[in-house]
Amino acid sequence: MDCLFCKIIAGDIPSSKVYEDEAVYAFKDINPQAPVHVLVVPKAHIESADCINSDNSDAVKAVFEAIPKVAASLGLVNGYRVITNIGEDGCQSVRHIHFHVLGGKKLPENMG
Ligand code: 5GP
Ligand code: ZN
Repeated sequence: MDCLFCKIIAGDIPSSKVYEDEAVYAFKDINPQAPVHVLVVPKAHIESADCINSDNSDAVKAVFEAIPKVAASLGLVNGYRVITNIGEDGCQSVRHIHFHVLGGKKLPENMG
C-alpha cells in the first residue's frame, strides 16, 4: 500500500521514534508546530477518524492507552493537546489516521 505512515511504521522510511508497542507507533513530526510535536498512529491502516467502526476501534483504543505514556516520556506534566485532522476541510494531508500530540508550552486557545 502506498501509505507514508505505513512505510514509516515498517521502517522503510526513517523516523525519530519516541514510543512503540504491538499496536502503536509514535514519532516526532518532521515539521513541529510546538516545542513537543509527535504523531501517535495505530500500526493498522485506518484512513481517518471518520472511518472508525466496531471492527477497527481496538487500534484507536490502543493509541489512547499509549498517549499518556508518550506524554509522560516527553515530560508533558503541565498538559498537552491531542488533535486529529479529517479529510479535506480538516486539512488531513496523510491518509493514515494519526493523533498529533502537542505541548511543551502554553498552546493558543484558538482551535480554528
Ligand atoms: P496532517 O496534516 O495529515 O494532520 O498531519 C500530517 C503530519 O505529518 C504533518 O504535521 C507533517 O509535518 C507530518 N509529516 C509529513 N511527512 C512526514 C514524514 O515523512 N516524517 C514525519 N516524521 N512527519 C511527517
Ligand atoms: Zn497506512
